[in-house]
Amino acid sequence: MRITIALALGAVFALLTATGIGQQPGLRQEVEVLQPGPMRIDPVKEGLFVVRGPFSPCMRSTCPPGRPGDGLMHESGDIAVRVTPDGLILVDDKFTDQLADVLATIRTVTSLPVRYMLNTHHHGDHVSGNVNFRQMGIDIIAHRNIRENFLRTKAPGEPNITFADQGSLHLGGVDVQMFHLGRGHTNGDTIVYFPDLKAIHMGDLVIDGAPVIDYAGGGSAIEFVKTIERILTIDFDVAIPGHGKLFTKDEVRAYLVRFQTMNQRMRELAKSGFPKDRLQTLDQVLAVLGLSDLGWENTVSTATFRGGVGRYYDEMAAAP
Ligand SMILES: [Zn+2]
Repeated sequence: MRITIALALGAVFALLTATGIGQQPGLRQEVEVLQPGPMRIDPVKEGLFVVRGPFSPCMRSTCPPGRPGDGLMHESGDIAVRVTPDGLILVDDKFTDQLADVLATIRTVTSLPVRYMLNTHHHGDHVSGNVNFRQMGIDIIAHRNIRENFLRTKAPGEPNITFADQGSLHLGGVDVQMFHLGRGHTNGDTIVYFPDLKAIHMGDLVIDGAPVIDYAGGGSAIEFVKTIERILTIDFDVAIPGHGKLFTKDEVRAYLVRFQTMNQRMRELAKSGFPKDRLQTLDQVLAVLGLSDLGWENTVSTATFRGGVGRYYDEMAAAP
């Protein structure tokens, strides 16, 4: 009976996808196909760059030597580099041992010194490099929950300057704003806004792949969509994601619709009494939630997303 329900739901989604019924234009996320390659820096706007890569078939934190990759290219978190006449403001810093590579990559576009480091959240693939910048005497500014998450997980390199809901930084005539708009990926997610460029860095609130809800880090699927709705109230036209290529505002809107669609499916599933133990394997999750029409069936973050599905089910089952 249980299997029948799972198969039936999967079949319904497959049918909807195959026939195009229920499909919305742009609903499916067409993720970037990456090739192996070194770290690189791309222009975003005048005075703003993004450091991406290196691109490898394994994310080091989850892929010890000798373990085969998953057939996908992975990269540590996207770094934003804002150039001001008085030096550089960086957003995130990848893994600790990528420091030399990060600095050399930035040096290809500017010789100005790094003055401040801002963090989008506490995850190691984004901010392990904090420890290097602290040693260099550079202040690290972040939401207070990010610092608390560093301390709670005993990770070195915790931010030394914190703010509650909003922070501001002014350097060389450039204004930078930091907004904590609510929980989502974690409980400390921060949007870094460059108002003169109408550009933002979104951290892992929006990525080129399936969303990851870090429940242990204070994440929430219900709050996640509300937080993305609040991102859309900011006046921006280009957005750096936590991982992957740049987003337009319309692409962030489409990401929100995708997430709302998935939440609705999980809510209906959990409310219907569908047994949680039928959401164990990746294949089960993909079939039951019908993630292929969202483009989330095989992204860099799909496996990590699956790891949180049990608590996702619980959250939606308890939702009003
Ligand atoms: Zn993250």
